[in-house]
Amino acid sequence: MKGYAMLTIGQTGWIEKDIPKCGPADAICKPIALAPCTSDIHTVWSGALGDRHDMILGHEAVGEVVEVGSEVKDFKVGDRVLVSAITPDWNSIAAQEGYPMHSGGMLSGWKFSNFKDGVFAEYFHVNDADGNLAKLPEGMDLGAAAMLADMIPTGFHGVELADVQFGDNVAVIGIGPVGLMSVAAAAIRGAAEIFAVGSRKNCADLAREYGATDIINYREGDIVEQIMAKTGGKGVDKVIIAGGDNDTFAQAIEILKPGGIIGNVNYLGEGDFVKIPRVQWGCGMSHKTVRGGLMPGGRVRSEKLARLIMTGRIHPEKMITHTFQGLEGVEPALMLMKDKPRDLIKPLVLL
Ligand SMILES: [Zn+2]
Repeated sequence: MKGYAMLTIGQTGWIEKDIPKCGPADAICKPIALAPCTSDIHTVWSGALGDRHDMILGHEAVGEVVEVGSEVKDFKVGDRVLVSAITPDWNSIAAQEGYPMHSGGMLSGWKFSNFKDGVFAEYFHVNDADGNLAKLPEGMDLGAAAMLADMIPTGFHGVELADVQFGDNVAVIGIGPVGLMSVAAAAIRGAAEIFAVGSRKNCADLAREYGATDIINYREGDIVEQIMAKTGGKGVDKVIIAGGDNDTFAQAIEILKPGGIIGNVNYLGEGDFVKIPRVQWGCGMSHKTVRGGLMPGGRVRSEKLARLIMTGRIHPEKMITHTFQGLEGVEPALMLMKDKPRDLIKPLVLL
């Protein structure tokens, strides 16, 4: 089969590989919608995972089942399915402990384009099919469905980690597609004010539509100063970090009230350390909590988040700014993510 792969750090290309083998609990799918992700860019061009050779990229897919193992109960050939980017081993100790995303070792629930070939291929392998697939709801927009792989569950996880409550003042740093979903999730959770930090006009417009009350443009001044000014010098109850770099932590700590919580879902692809400013962290005694986590993945989560789309509570398809046709489309779609033209939010490939 054909797949679009990381050849080595800094290089991508088309390769030929064998169709993956289906174990007793697994499924083999062919993609019907795909999306590239900033994580793919970090993986290839920052070498964030270390070197990988001829590893097929991609972890965001909607699929059609072409083969199931003998132990799979709830899925059959021909089913159209939502596929989570994170595919834990649900029968693991880590899953029983409440952290399925770390089954098999830290972050090891992330298998596609990390420990095994990803979804940018004619076929891809899904472990623990009953635990990790969900039926594609009848009538669901394929773009919205593709956002259920990673953008929605990750953006929502930022809000879960920050434990947003009714009436909270919330800052969402980074309003790419993950941050936009954090804005939508914070609104659903009952945040009173949502400060969306970003500079791109189309992202800012969509952030407002999803529930942001204020746009904080870092090109118009220091974000700490702007948010402190808007909160009467108090700062915010919760911060969700969905973009930025190692310096972003310092700003998040500064704008957070004592007792506040940071939920980080940003993939820090470079550097050895993150920065926590000592004094603004109360010399270690501020009760400012930093929580960072990979989203859990899994069927129940996909099904629940899918309901929010089907009932019109969220509109993730509005994030899709560029659409390509056919598997060959993953190459220009990925390059678009790499180059980030200002009109881009999220590209989609339909097959
Ligand atoms: Zn992704």
